[in-house]
Amino acid sequence: MAEQIIKGFTLQSSGDPSFLRKEEDTIPEDEPPSSAGEAQSAASKKIESRSNLRLVFSREEDDDSWKGLLARSITKAVDLPKQLCMDVITVHDVTRRYPMRINPYYLGLIKETNDPLWLQAIPDFKELNDPLGVEDPLNEEEQSPVPNITHRYPDRVLFLVSSQCAMYCRFCTRKRKVGRSLTVTEETIALGIEYIGRHREVRDVLLSGGDPLLLTDKSIERILKALRQIPHVEIIRIGTRVLCTLPQRITIRLVNMLKKYHPLYINTHFNHPIEITPEAAKACGRLADAGIPLGCQTVILRGVNDNASIMKQLMQGLLRIRVRPYYLYQADLTQGTGHFRTPIDKGLEIIEALRGHTSGLCVPTFVVDVPGGGGKTPILPNYLLRKEKDTLLMRNYENNVYSYPFATGEGEIRTANVAAREGNHEDWNYF
Ligand code: SF4
Repeated sequence: MAEQIIKGFTLQSSGDPSFLRKEEDTIPEDEPPSSAGEAQSAASKKIESRSNLRLVFSREEDDDSWKGLLARSITKAVDLPKQLCMDVITVHDVTRRYPMRINPYYLGLIKETNDPLWLQAIPDFKELNDPLGVEDPLNEEEQSPVPNITHRYPDRVLFLVSSQCAMYCRFCTRKRKVGRSLTVTEETIALGIEYIGRHREVRDVLLSGGDPLLLTDKSIERILKALRQIPHVEIIRIGTRVLCTLPQRITIRLVNMLKKYHPLYINTHFNHPIEITPEAAKACGRLADAGIPLGCQTVILRGVNDNASIMKQLMQGLLRIRVRPYYLYQADLTQGTGHFRTPIDKGLEIIEALRGHTSGLCVPTFVVDVPGGGGKTPILPNYLLRKEKDTLLMRNYENNVYSYPFATGEGEIRTANVAAREGNHEDWNYF
């Protein structure tokens, strides 16, 4: 079976150079600007004003507009708008190690330096000074039986099928790879599909990267089709940030193709309510209308969203655009991202501020992806106060204390109810 799959996959893709987008494995060596002033005056000639960009978006309703936007991405420090780049030389230095890509759509959402979107997109000198971080904090390489597959959990695999993203987020866990050293070829895709075909325990495949939706429709379909030929693959998930960073990518043509491969799930990634735009709502609506359940993974980032009120707005906004908050991540110990990291208590504080204060659908699971490949480990505020002989004592979201009987048998429930009737515990309520 595996042989047929890989053979079919190779046959379909052979002779078709457009199978994968051309992947850039190295960071282009920019000529450093001779001075900040010179660089920025050049930049001002090249860069369209943000109001012009908004006009461009509204004109570009055709299915391929996303390619034009992506092609106009800023990748060099000298091309950043003057008002958003204080230090061209430093940004240039950072991009030599960690690439930059900001497409005009996301750039148009940035209002000023140090705003929550600016922080996610613009390189920072702190990326080069992070003594605590490590390159691969989640041990993805060690748990990789074939290139670009990570097999950590018993019934599912992570399958990296793209090295490109619509934006290179400064906090990215895979910043060691995206846009530069993650090599995706027809061969690595075929090897990954072969591996999945050989491992009957794999019932769930998560396509990630980079961003899988930066591949062409044709390339994505070939991967989905090959996976759907494997009988034990029950569900396919796609991890993508384009709904947030380049929603124009969610074209009608793409959606019509994706919906042929159900059960298909998409997990996206929004970090701030400003990212919930009419364009993002339209993209999410298209996918939801096609029956694709949408979840969101958000990372807590210092200065961006480490605030309970902002998180509440974000989670409520996500539900409005038909995206279910799924995970809230503690930032990984990734090298070059230390300046974004918050204490674990911040995540607990945020969950505490959500649970009970807004609908349960708005409350993601707070997880730490524990270093060393231990996997996602949930952490909850402590609502269970004490175990007593017949009951559990717990607190609710308003910090009122309640009890619940051990419901292991009728006798125990009766005992607890008797205690309540006798009024032994005045402020205990029974459900
Ligand atoms: S889109 Fe995802 S994979 Fe790509 S740079 Fe951003 S966080 Fe990393």
